[in-house]
Amino acid sequence: MFTHYDSVVKHLRPAKYLVCKKINGVVDKLGELQDVLKIHERLTAEFPKVYSELIKDSDKSDVSSVKGLNYLEVKKSIVEKILEECILCERRCGVNRINGVTGFCGVNKTARVSSYFLHMGEETQLIPSGTVFFSGCTFRCAYNTRL
Ligand code: SF4
Repeated sequence: MFTHYDSVVKHLRPAKYLVCKKINGVVDKLGELQDVLKIHERLTAEFPKVYSELIKDSDKSDVSSVKGLNYLEVKKSIVEKILEECILCERRCGVNRINGVTGFCGVNKTARVSSYFLHMGEETQLIPSGTVFFSGCTFRCAYNTRL
């Protein structure tokens, strides 16, 4: 069921984020969000081929990054551009989190980790599950002190 994850844990396959670093964005500079999304779409189409070559040929399993902007950096750029007018959740505050402004969730550009641990309460196949809880919340409930 979790063949890929099992292989990553056993160091038989590279984690997919490392594979992203091997795909060159073939640009020096990223432009506006719409342009970056087009580049991302192109690199997304390349990913399955690069990944299957890596896992087929153990000689190619070196996951060192390519020079220049890679697929992972393109993804990072998309998130940063969205954070400039945040629409990451349905609150769609539109605040500039990159400039330190907080929206309804109370989070600016810095993610805050509340806790991390091995979660033992998931379905059998997922135990133990590395879990990270972030602070900040987009819900409106009795526990939200920002109401
Ligand atoms: S609540 Fe937070 S995540 Fe949601 S849109 Fe507003 S700033 Fe972005």
